[in-house]
Amino acid sequence: MKHLLWLITTCYLGAALGCGAGLAAETAMTVQPIGNDAYILTPAYGTNIGVFKTAGGLVLIDPMPGEDQLVQLEQQIKSLLGAPVQFILNTHAHADHQGGNSYFVQKGAVLLADSSHLAGFQSASAASHTTLDTVFYHKASNSIFVGDIYDRSWHPTFYAGGLAGFHQAINAILALGDNQSLIVPGHGKPGSKAELRQFQLHTTAWVARVQQLSRAGKTVDDIKNDAEIKRILQQFNPEPTADFVPEQALVRFIERTLTLIKKEQ
Ligand SMILES: [Zn+2]
Repeated sequence: MKHLLWLITTCYLGAALGCGAGLAAETAMTVQPIGNDAYILTPAYGTNIGVFKTAGGLVLIDPMPGEDQLVQLEQQIKSLLGAPVQFILNTHAHADHQGGNSYFVQKGAVLLADSSHLAGFQSASAASHTTLDTVFYHKASNSIFVGDIYDRSWHPTFYAGGLAGFHQAINAILALGDNQSLIVPGHGKPGSKAELRQFQLHTTAWVARVQQLSRAGKTVDDIKNDAEIKRILQQFNPEPTADFVPEQALVRFIERTLTLIKKEQ
């Protein structure tokens, strides 16, 4: 339970950080067109929500919780696309990605486990951020919604799958679409496949450095203050902001990484 709570906390914290403008922008919802009848909607909550009008009906990825925000989300979708939500997909089972499912199900939408019955979509699953992460490729907009496998506002959180699961998940994403595909993380700005590859390299470097320092007998505190560790951490955030991971969260990230290293040995 503690494990689950921590994961959820990191998501919420990641969401808050990803929001950028912070709590002051409580009512704002960012609308980003990514193709014909395809949008990323980002409420103040910080979760990147996908919405697509398709021949088979309107598809929604990752509605977040919160009655007020869901009313706003529903209105926004209607004004942009003029249709009700028909199908819901979730990248994973954290509240900030599926907390709004029941709101739309009550209004007639159908929750799908994957996109296999939806024309124009492709999906892939892995265990990385959670024991079941699913990514969705929308062909018409050439966008891939990857949930919290990739986060451009936080450090990686590959706690369920370890480094092996992480690489499996990233490679599954890289196998979808083409080199121009837009990679939409669960939180933070969308990026490219080149940036995703960099994120993969930084994550490998992070684990290797933590392992190296741990083998040399360094404590979590030593690791936290290591110059190379600080440099790698900063690279997880392409828009540099000082201390984007607070100290306490950094300590937890190091501890979790050490646990995973021990498990994988
Ligand atoms: Zn999550």
